[in-house]
Amino acid sequence: MQSSPPPPPTSSSAAKMLYEEAIWTPTNPYRHRSSHRRARICVAITFGILMFGLGVSVGAFLHAMLFPDGSSPIIKFPSFLTSSGSFEESPVNSTVLSHLGSSVELEDSEVIEEEDGMKKDSEEEEEDKGKEKESEEVSEEKNKTKRRGKKEESKEKEEKEKEEKEEEEEEDEAGSGEKFVKANRECTNITWYSSRLPRTAEPIEYDLTLHPNLTNGEVEAEVSIRILIKNETKLLILNAENLEMNSFEITRKGSKLKADFVKCEVMTQWAWKFGKRLHKGDHIVLKIKYSSQMKSDLQGLYFSTHLGTDGKKTKSAATQFEPTFARKMLPCFDEPNFKATFQVSIIRNANHIARSNMNLSFSKEYKNGLIKDEFEKSVKMSTYLLAVAVLDGYGYIKRLTRNTTKPIEVRLYAPEDMLEGQSEFGLDTTIRALEFFENYFNISYPLDKIDLLALDDFSEGAMENWGLVTFRDSALLFNERKASVVAKEHIALIICHEIAHQWFGNLVTMDWWNEVFLNEGFANYMEYKCVDELFPDWSIMSRFYAENLAFSQEPDGFLSSRAIESDDDDSLLNLFDAINYHKAAAIIHMIAEMAGQRNFQTALIEYLNKYAYSNAIGVDLWKIVEKHANLQGRVSIPDLAKAYTTQVGYPLVTVERTEEGILVHNQTRFLFAEGEKAEEKRGDWKWPIPISYRASEDNKKKLHWIQADDRNVTWETPSNGWLILNTGGVGYFKVLYDGDTYRKLVDELTINHTKISPIDRSMILVDSYDLSKTSLLNISVYFDLLEYVESKLSLGYWGIGCVAT
Ligand SMILES: [Zn+2]
Repeated sequence: MQSSPPPPPTSSSAAKMLYEEAIWTPTNPYRHRSSHRRARICVAITFGILMFGLGVSVGAFLHAMLFPDGSSPIIKFPSFLTSSGSFEESPVNSTVLSHLGSSVELEDSEVIEEEDGMKKDSEEEEEDKGKEKESEEVSEEKNKTKRRGKKEESKEKEEKEKEEKEEEEEEDEAGSGEKFVKANRECTNITWYSSRLPRTAEPIEYDLTLHPNLTNGEVEAEVSIRILIKNETKLLILNAENLEMNSFEITRKGSKLKADFVKCEVMTQWAWKFGKRLHKGDHIVLKIKYSSQMKSDLQGLYFSTHLGTDGKKTKSAATQFEPTFARKMLPCFDEPNFKATFQVSIIRNANHIARSNMNLSFSKEYKNGLIKDEFEKSVKMSTYLLAVAVLDGYGYIKRLTRNTTKPIEVRLYAPEDMLEGQSEFGLDTTIRALEFFENYFNISYPLDKIDLLALDDFSEGAMENWGLVTFRDSALLFNERKASVVAKEHIALIICHEIAHQWFGNLVTMDWWNEVFLNEGFANYMEYKCVDELFPDWSIMSRFYAENLAFSQEPDGFLSSRAIESDDDDSLLNLFDAINYHKAAAIIHMIAEMAGQRNFQTALIEYLNKYAYSNAIGVDLWKIVEKHANLQGRVSIPDLAKAYTTQVGYPLVTVERTEEGILVHNQTRFLFAEGEKAEEKRGDWKWPIPISYRASEDNKKKLHWIQADDRNVTWETPSNGWLILNTGGVGYFKVLYDGDTYRKLVDELTINHTKISPIDRSMILVDSYDLSKTSLLNISVYFDLLEYVESKLSLGYWGIGCVAT
């Protein structure tokens, strides 16, 4: 998924100039041009006010989003999303398995005691022979039982008490949160206390037939799920939300099984309680006929409305499932590590177009003039990557890749009035991105086709559904004559992001959402590498620092921030934020640079091959990177990754020049806030810190590792001139220099600013500005550093901004 990126500058030439001059920062999407005193003051004051205003606004906004009432997140998510779920099935207490009010009694669920009818003849003969012997043994057994007598009874009683105690403890633990209080009250008939599904059953294959009515929004559907029982159980649970059950049937080897259906709306779970245990290795087939109602809520299967240039509105149906909205379209095991295949059929009007992840197998007439499209069986994938679309008033343009292992058909679908003249750039970039990633990962794109679908109504920038990528139309369609080059760069980045996901996320998926950075951080990182390869003239990597590291350090400097790896599953949507996209991308960039880019690529290839069509956790990846890394220092890749992904915030490195060289004080968490509360929150975090530095006398950068347990470190530097730490903006930390070093940097910027690279100039300005928001640095230092801009940039654009104030 691609959420909206940080705001870029608004015109291409100015953007280029600003990146070159290192003035644009994520909180400063403006341009400065001045050649005389008045303009300079205007720039400084306006810039300061805007930066302060934006800083406060962004901070207040983030804080308000996260803590509107000072304690709980504003975005309330269904209460099924906790991470504490046990994978063991809860003991089922039959006395509490009464149906919920809306439970279903159905024709298809008629009871057949199939197990009695399944006995083989030979077994029955054996049983007959055994019965005589059994009757002889019964009296002896009865005597034995009497002899065991009270001893057995007391043992059983003990075990029963123990079981009851465990059940109570489980309920207590599960019932500690607000959501579970509600769940316990409303869903006592399930006796499953976790939002995570039990691992006793797993889906193998879904066969889904869907008929969305684009006129009234009604959806009639039928799904057949082949399920493998992993452990003996009497309980089957999956996810469903806002779906209406019409009928169900469960079979094993063609024989119907008796099961009671119960549901828990608050946990978005449907469950079946079986009279007899299902055994490990059993294959059962669950068929469900159900219906639902489409809305324009941008989740699950929803209405997307296009307003044509003629003022006419047309409704289409599209999907958005990440993270947990697949359950709004079909009953399913809606967790990323329940991968299965999907066979999708769609019933549609003859003048509509239906698309899904895979290629169309065939179309046939259905009834009442309707058409049924059946798509090929999908590769094994997570539910959140499933996608369907039924389009009204859409057309497409088709191309084929040239330099992939096999030709891949790339189609761009858009409303007919938007298709012409806006599709070529998106198609061409997708083709080149597919070729780039196949080559980079050395793994073929596994499908035969990929569709790009432009939608008017879309909640994110784009979504990487395997083979059917959905986009907000402005993130895909590009009009050469009307749109800016910056918009072009934005589209290229988003397309590369989604194509990167076809490997990172689709082929190998994070095990659970707490590590969604494995999807999003990587896609964000890889999108820059891809665009850099496709459009080298854009020097896109020079923007990586500003748009990822600096952009994420702002929210990460607030008390309300969180670690990349989060156990807080209350609102999974909150995990799709600057921390998991931009901070994670910056941390991955740091690790890749430390490991060596070539080694890192080799590690990624091994990782993707090892976990293809499966799931992985972060440690799996870092261990492989460690194997291939060539780390200069005593820090391991897993330790480095752990420090920056499991700890909130980032370090502030304080530099002092002494006669011995350079003295670095580190291991203090940078925070915008100060005072007692901030000190409490600062915590006792420890980070290994790779310090790349460059001195004025030496063009070559050097690397010094600071260990996690180091506090004050001194090492020799040859320089009496200026010195820049974290040169290249690779390390995830901020730097505070002493007054003398700042003065030398100001001098150099004034005399010849090109001796300091654009990224380093940008970093020095961003860090000094952020530090001036605290008591650690006077704002005048920032303005002194900014002063070189006066003589280096021409007037023009920024003058307009000043007149406006
Ligand atoms: Zn993404």
